[in-house]
Amino acid sequence: MLTLNQLTHSYVQPGRQRERTRFCFDLNVEAGEIVALLGPSGAGKSTLLAMVAGFLAPDSGELIINSQHIERQLPSERPLSLLFQDHNLFPHLSVFDNLGLGLHPGLKLTREDKEKIVVAAARVGIQPYLDRLPEQLSGGQKQRVALARCLLRNRPLLLLDEPFSALDPALRNGMLALVKSLAREHHTTVLLITHSPEEALKIADQCAFINQGQIQVVGPTREVLENPQHDALKRYLGRV
Ligand code: ADP
Ligand code: MG
Repeated sequence: MLTLNQLTHSYVQPGRQRERTRFCFDLNVEAGEIVALLGPSGAGKSTLLAMVAGFLAPDSGELIINSQHIERQLPSERPLSLLFQDHNLFPHLSVFDNLGLGLHPGLKLTREDKEKIVVAAARVGIQPYLDRLPEQLSGGQKQRVALARCLLRNRPLLLLDEPFSALDPALRNGMLALVKSLAREHHTTVLLITHSPEEALKIADQCAFINQGQIQVVGPTREVLENPQHDALKRYLGRV
């Protein structure tokens, strides 16, 4: 469903002209799979997502979604939705309108659209708050709204960059369970950046360990995390 073939971004830090830092990613994901991206801070996890989302143009390499090369597509044209830790909602719009933007950028909503919004809101448990502004919601409720908007967009790929890391553990687990069941229902492919091996074990079919700008290990989550073979991964997991 998703292929990254030597997808590369490199940069030179100002004042360090001789050192070029290079991120180069190879990855194959099957349709409907949930993949956790794990690795130390600064390893390149967000850089990988930014290239897939189209916010960062790769220097070289291929990016293929459902057999289509999408390297040149604008972010808005790509068949995906995104969820970050914050800044997911428009503060001056009601929850209902924030959800409506998932269906129509100009909020020209048909009666059918409005029904879909109510159904999606109910699915993530925020139906009572449709008239509120985001500032009148808790952090967990805001992320539910953002997730419902992803649901309404109904794109085949969902990119999550530590979306629930600001939430308490119990809420975080609830949100992960919700993402997992929604992804299974809609056969959505998911890339999830997380700092937590426990989180990866709960939700992900596959786990990719990113270190020093590369995917150094990838495989079934349990295999990768419960019996790590790679030295850097062992160190990251505190198993040495
Ligand atoms: P992660 O999400 O794994 O923590 P990131 O992908 O956000 O890591 O970042 C990798 C590092 O590379 C960051 O420290 C970022 O500032 C740096 N970086 C990436 N691209 C550039 C660039 N074009 N110029 C300067 N620094 C960059
Ligand atoms: Mg990051």
